[in-house]
Amino acid sequence: MADKAKARAAALRLIEEHGVRAAPVPLDRIIRAAGVVVQYGPFDGELSGMAFIKDGQPMIGVNSLHASTRQRFTLAHELGHILLHRPVLEASGVHVDKGSLRRDSLASEGVDDQEIEANNFAAELLMPEPLLAAALDGHNLDFEDEEAVQALAKKFKVSTMALQFRVQRI
Ligand SMILES: [Zn+2]
Repeated sequence: MADKAKARAAALRLIEEHGVRAAPVPLDRIIRAAGVVVQYGPFDGELSGMAFIKDGQPMIGVNSLHASTRQRFTLAHELGHILLHRPVLEASGVHVDKGSLRRDSLASEGVDDQEIEANNFAAELLMPEPLLAAALDGHNLDFEDEEAVQALAKKFKVSTMALQFRVQRI
């Protein structure tokens, strides 16, 4: 079974270690500090990214054709695989992610445990609980209020879909 709590805790530890107090989360700095090398490339179609270990060096590939908010979620997702599933990556070679974060994809049966963990890690890393709580300032986010949703997504440099996943699914 997917361990969402463990994935979220790992992300929050990074936020603490890096002393992040304000959005947006400095993802590039966190990835560099983790010793991960990122490569961007124009991949075909829905391929969003990949994680692999090359001669002991953890690497992330990101589809440069996708929107910047999506690239950001992909980066955080792949970092989650590297930090949470490294033994699996070492054993199986490259992990490739296709498709995007969809509202129904996480609730549906048969979704890979590792995908659930990487998505929860990414959501917590990009929208950490303390920062999100501060931004909402005791209010519930009204998803009917498009302006408010977009403003909050912009603040955290995430898609509104990722924000919705973070607020409603976790
Ligand atoms: Zn994945």
